Amino acid sequence: MSTSRPVIAIAGLGIESSTFSPARTQAPAFHPRRGADVLSGYPFLAPGAPLREAADWRGALVGKALPGGTVTAAAYAELSAELLDRLGSAGRIDGLWFDIHGAMTVEGLDDAEAQLLARIRQVIGPETVVSTSMDLHGNVSRELVHHSDLITCYRMAPHEDAMDTKERAARNLVDLLTNGAPRPVKAWIPVPVLLAGEQTSTRVEPARSVYAAVAEVEAADGVTDAAIWVGYAWADEPRNRAAVVVTGPSAPAVTAGAERLARGFWEARHAFGFVAPTGTLDDCLDEALASTARPWFISDTGDNPTAGGAGDVTWGLRHVLSRPEFKDSCGPTVVYASLPGPSAVEEAAKAGVGATVTVTAGAEVDDRHAGPLTLTGVVHAVQHGDRDAETEVVLRVGSVHVILTRLRKPYHHEHDFTALDLDPRTADVVLVKIGYLEPELFAMAADWKMALTPGGVDQDLTRLGHHRVRRPLFPFDPDMPDPDLTARVIAPSNDPLTGPDE
Ligand SMILES: [Zn+2]
Repeated sequence: MSTSRPVIAIAGLGIESSTFSPARTQAPAFHPRRGADVLSGYPFLAPGAPLREAADWRGALVGKALPGGTVTAAAYAELSAELLDRLGSAGRIDGLWFDIHGAMTVEGLDDAEAQLLARIRQVIGPETVVSTSMDLHGNVSRELVHHSDLITCYRMAPHEDAMDTKERAARNLVDLLTNGAPRPVKAWIPVPVLLAGEQTSTRVEPARSVYAAVAEVEAADGVTDAAIWVGYAWADEPRNRAAVVVTGPSAPAVTAGAERLARGFWEARHAFGFVAPTGTLDDCLDEALASTARPWFISDTGDNPTAGGAGDVTWGLRHVLSRPEFKDSCGPTVVYASLPGPSAVEEAAKAGVGATVTVTAGAEVDDRHAGPLTLTGVVHAVQHGDRDAETEVVLRVGSVHVILTRLRKPYHHEHDFTALDLDPRTADVVLVKIGYLEPELFAMAADWKMALTPGGVDQDLTRLGHHRVRRPLFPFDPDMPDPDLTARVIAPSNDPLTGPDE
């Protein structure tokens, strides 16, 4: 390299999208940042920060969406065309930081991020050095590794190290460009295991130990970075499975490191369990009613909007309302969060607090498990102006306080409830569409359980109906033989990708 600073572009599209949800994601959901605005998303690239000064950063387009359904072909076409266009007019660039999630599904397209990077390569050329950073719930095909020079992901779930990971990916790219070192060797190993995020939290074993080895591998001589991807369980493409990649200047070091991490993940496969007790919704309700612990929380997990559920599945609420214990307003106090129903919210809001209304809500997006639900109840609260929900209404049906929303909204904080004149601390049972409880809810719960309910992010993976994932795959094939966990050294992007697609 000359003494001038390297020019580095930043681009990427990030979403975790369920192919088991009938919901669709449109372009505005990505809230794209463009040009200089891209840099403002990263504190370590603030003016004056050492990394900011080490390179000439050029924001192209970076979009990040909440988890949701498959991205429409039109939305992907529009966003990717603009991203490529901006890269094409960025002038000569030495490096690209490809900031993605890795679990984006697009209508009619497999392995969307690898396909996007292949198209980017046609614009920036095979010699530009690419550093890819991802969520550990992303998927890593050999094509994605082929088109990347460095590739890494988070090491913590929940993702407390998200910004550290992005900074590491950016810094390793700057170092590589500044030192003029040869391209890293890339050792990739697909691990035929597909697990839910709720089974692989790094706060608990076995993921805690499996991931602790990543930093040890990274610390070895000849290794630049190391990463383990759990993969994304609620999409059905050949790429959906766990993977390991280790990068660095030494082929023996990255190979040995990758094989150690892949073996560790594979050998732990039977030990991954849910982070909380699970049961059917009826089991959970029976246990909650029999217990004296209050409040008792139940996750209605199959339709969790923050994992990609449509959010408007009525199956769980229909089940709750059918229980005889809750038919009378003197019954145990239950809070249910939540069900979208735009017309129901409008009618209830118009009728006002204290009015008795009959409204129909839910199943506009996902009606596969139960149809729209008609409810008769008393309007308990009306709230306008929420960023996600826009308008929220609480309807008391028997002893159940049902939160209805105009648009889907996650309920993760105590104030989400208290703003609606609900006190979850004094309720008997609180049901939330969520996976593991977010910290505030976890701290509030005297006891809790995850209900394995149906929906776009059903936690019981083997009943979802995957048919395109590569087999054999654990736990779909629980007694499968040991796979080949030797490292595949993937050719750099300026050499052809040879060998079998696997
Ligand atoms: Zn994730």
